[in-house]
Amino acid sequence: MLKLFNTKTHKKEIFHPLYGNHVGLYTCGPTVYNYAHIGNLRTYVFEDILRRTLKYHKYNITHVMNITDVGHLTDDADAGEDKIEKGAKREGKSAQDIAKFYTEAFIHNIQDLNILNPTIWCNASDNIKEQIDLVQTLINKGHTYKTKDGIYFDTTTFPTYGDMAGLKNQELKAGARVDVGEKKHLHDFALWKFTAPGTTRQMEWEAFGCRGFPGWHVECSAMSMKYLGEQFDIHCGGIDHVPIHHTNEIAQSEAVTGKHPSVNFWMHGEFLIIDNDKMAKSGNNFITLQTLKDNGFSPLAYRYFLLQTHYRKQLTFSFEALDAAQNGLHRLREKIHNIPKDQQGDPHLLHQFENVIDDDLNTPEALAILWTGLKDGLVNLEIIIECDKILGLNLHETTNVNIDIPKHVQELLKQRKCARDEKDWITSDRLRDEIATLGFLVEDKNNGQEVKNYKHKK
Ligand code: AMP
Ligand code: ZN
Repeated sequence: MLKLFNTKTHKKEIFHPLYGNHVGLYTCGPTVYNYAHIGNLRTYVFEDILRRTLKYHKYNITHVMNITDVGHLTDDADAGEDKIEKGAKREGKSAQDIAKFYTEAFIHNIQDLNILNPTIWCNASDNIKEQIDLVQTLINKGHTYKTKDGIYFDTTTFPTYGDMAGLKNQELKAGARVDVGEKKHLHDFALWKFTAPGTTRQMEWEAFGCRGFPGWHVECSAMSMKYLGEQFDIHCGGIDHVPIHHTNEIAQSEAVTGKHPSVNFWMHGEFLIIDNDKMAKSGNNFITLQTLKDNGFSPLAYRYFLLQTHYRKQLTFSFEALDAAQNGLHRLREKIHNIPKDQQGDPHLLHQFENVIDDDLNTPEALAILWTGLKDGLVNLEIIIECDKILGLNLHETTNVNIDIPKHVQELLKQRKCARDEKDWITSDRLRDEIATLGFLVEDKNNGQEVKNYKHKK
């Protein structure tokens, strides 16, 4: 019995798909104007655990992830510059080139982290007609008004607006007067923005009598409905999406279809924090997966670091904590490597593991159960393989997978293998010493050279 925490109802609920054995899952994807930082990647790892858990339950999943390549402004509340156009200016490239480059970088990141590919990738700029149609329907149904700079959703026409985030209570508490510009109400948001007079944009389209581009929230309503239907099972993102992006998506989608709820389960991952602040692409505390790799950490060590904390708890990043996680993963792999071939697995232990995962994806508990099982000799390779279907840590591959070996070290390892094949022990030993000075210890096993005890450069 799978239970998931639903942001909308603020409680854990038993998950049942809306349509038979099929699950429709939409996860908000990256805005591709820069590299994803490791905070963003935390959200995608949480979503991957969800996806793998659904798969473990043998559901037939359609997983849609969007790529935001237009319309996301530097201020989530409809002000500032388009992030992609800004990125294009910064790098002197076209908006398309920027989007393509950072999309590819993102795909490398998720492959490195062993995150399963979505069933459908969709770009905002490839689905402009769907977005224009959605805005037109909202105009026809009387949910909008026009200002000098765009078409806005009038949130007072949607009585349950902001329920998920408790926005009405917040407004009362704040009691402050806020400058809303030409907007009629504080939370009204842009559905379509007009290109500023006298300027041109790289990405703009003719609609509603003017050149312009879609508001950021429109793409997710339009594409989730296109690929998953008017009502679907699960929608995920980071916690920052609750008060604006997802609140606005609910208003748009449900105002268009008149169907409630558009999404059965809303799920949100908590932030990765660094130096007491959330990690943000716009901040100067921005760390990428490549930075971790350059410091000698494997992407899967980062995945292990993330799984040690529940996805609904904030997590503070530090290189010391990551170092401890890398060592932890290494020890885990070693223990698995040393499981006797004839070891009997205890099915009860696997059930315990499944139960804590089914209890709102409790990965820290799941890891604790796995460690106990290994310590008490209750785990065999079959059980490890089952657990790893969810954890995605490649636990059963125990040779050299715990670390990323730089190319020049790989080259030396190759040379050493040749030397050993030729029984040239002097060269083999010299190469081992040279590799050791680079921070890698080589051991000779029956199935080849194993590299271990790597200490990252501080
Ligand atoms: P973006 O590329 O900015 O649209 O963000 C991609 C995803 O990362 C969204 O689901 C955000 O909610 C999430 N996100 C942004 N910052 C963080 C953070 N510091 N920790 C965890 N998730 C984050
Ligand atoms: Zn979205």
